[in-house]
Amino acid sequence: MHFETTAIHAGAEVDRETGAIAPPLNLSTTFERGIDGQPAHGYSYIRDANPTQARLEEALAAIDSAAAALAFASGMAAGAAILQSLPTGSHVLLPDDSYYGFRILATDFFPKWSLTADFVGMEDLGAVRRSMRPETRVVWSETPSNPLMKIVDIAALAAIAHERGAMAVVDGTFASPALQRPIELGADVVLHSTTKYLGGHSDVQGGSLAFARRDAFFDAVATTRKIAGAVASPFNSWLVLRGIRSLAARMRVHCENARALASFLSTHPRVAVVHYPGLPAHPGHDIARRQMTDFGGMLSFEVKGGREEALAVASRTRVFTRATSLGGTESLIEHRATSEGPTSRTPPGLLRVSIGLEHSEDLIADLQAALA
Ligand SMILES: *Cc1c(COP(=O)(O)O)cnc(C)c1O
Repeated sequence: MHFETTAIHAGAEVDRETGAIAPPLNLSTTFERGIDGQPAHGYSYIRDANPTQARLEEALAAIDSAAAALAFASGMAAGAAILQSLPTGSHVLLPDDSYYGFRILATDFFPKWSLTADFVGMEDLGAVRRSMRPETRVVWSETPSNPLMKIVDIAALAAIAHERGAMAVVDGTFASPALQRPIELGADVVLHSTTKYLGGHSDVQGGSLAFARRDAFFDAVATTRKIAGAVASPFNSWLVLRGIRSLAARMRVHCENARALASFLSTHPRVAVVHYPGLPAHPGHDIARRQMTDFGGMLSFEVKGGREEALAVASRTRVFTRATSLGGTESLIEHRATSEGPTSRTPPGLLRVSIGLEHSEDLIADLQAALA
């Protein structure tokens, strides 16, 4: 079945009691037990599992070609649950360009959790091999990466991880499963901040993990979620499930608009460099062509003149709104170094844009005026 069809039908069975086509939003925190004291309908207590979340997880697994999936309160909660489920003493290889929250987890929380980390440029496979230790349990990658849009070779990283008995975890938030399905390339776990493209309307926070196998590690992460409690609420699960139905159609327009913006920016005299994997000059272009079906709706560009000029450009847009986050219907522009704060390693002249679903000519005109 094609992705578009799966995304619309997974977890979408008609409600048996009422015939409702849209899934019921089930807010109950507790579920009836039988006379033997056991759960009578498959559910017991909301933090454990609930029907709306179960439908979402069925869809999340299907769209990522996974054996099983877990929904979380946020993308960070999903990532933290992986790390909290590792044996103490584990070593984790993180990308040098990862989402800043994971970098802070590694520096400030890993010591408390008895984990160690090294940061490595995941596009340098030799460096990845050299950084592997006997206790390395996870090779973490993010592709495309935030905010430099680096592309890493998922299949090659998974092979290195597996050779050494580690798992390959891929944060696929920027691509979404519509464009890239890491499990098909050999990854073990895929993370999404469903706050972004899966939700798709800047109105819900969530995270997800999709697992290649329903194995002991899946059980460990499910237990972490249940006991530490970073669960998705039924309403948030319902909104993410609703977003998944239109994901493929939205991604097509995000990609088409981003392509138009990238080609406009790449010839603009005030732009020093455009980071977009769809441009043939991008260092990860060939790998992106192999492992993605399109190049996504995110791009960043560096304005000549550094920080002051970049802030000035962002101050002049009228269609793009200055805000962090991504994946909604509206276009956003962000001076990323300011959002990331003092520990940021992002180039000071960099502006990150989330290309929305407006008409591309209006988006180009807006940036044209802002760059003038
Ligand atoms: C936003 C984001 C996260 C964190 O997700 P939250 O839902 O904000 O917790 C993780 N990874 C990437 C790539 C993101 O863009």
